[in-house]
Amino acid sequence: MPLTPKRAQMFYNDSMKVGILAFHGDFAEHIEILRSLKHTPVEIRTLEDLKGIPKLIIPGGESTVMAAFLEMTGLAKEIQKRVRKKNLSVFGTCAGAILLAKKATGKHTPNTLGLIDLTVDRNAYGTQLDSFAATIKAKGIKKPMNVSFIRAPRFSNVGREARVLAEYQGSPILVEQGKVLVAAFHPEVRGETSLHEYFISL
Ligand code: GLN
Repeated sequence: MPLTPKRAQMFYNDSMKVGILAFHGDFAEHIEILRSLKHTPVEIRTLEDLKGIPKLIIPGGESTVMAAFLEMTGLAKEIQKRVRKKNLSVFGTCAGAILLAKKATGKHTPNTLGLIDLTVDRNAYGTQLDSFAATIKAKGIKKPMNVSFIRAPRFSNVGREARVLAEYQGSPILVEQGKVLVAAFHPEVRGETSLHEYFISL
């Protein structure tokens, strides 16, 4: 099929779309960042919403709540299927990282999607009151990033197929495996855009 200007425009528009799971959590901050990077955020709540979307962000929030919505809507199975077929990239921050992990430990663990080979220990950095900000440096990202840890999970048992991009006090905090990127922290609450740029460029 020839690449007419109309088809080229459609292709361009789709490749600029980034889905953001929008049941709950801090999806609005991710939307702001995507807009500032001139991408088109698409709020995802149903299977229909995810059609044709090449990239998806799973935000922070409460992983047990999001896991229930993912199962109820059928999105859990669809995300697993598309990531395994390599036609969906996913970036999970904090609760999003918990949902993408192979295994979760801690109290009341949600069913995880098992799309990245690591273990997450929920709330291992403490309660809401123990939240803190830190400046971190990650492989593949030039500038140091100012990020927040809010009831963050601790990552361990990173599998051989996965690559640690950043550590904090000896623990991995940013890991990627194929089309999946997970961060234990929140880059979006301080308006940090570099990690979103990295994800979009994958
Ligand atoms: N502790 C939350 C959970 O386990 C995640 C917190 C967050 O996303 N900031 O779901």
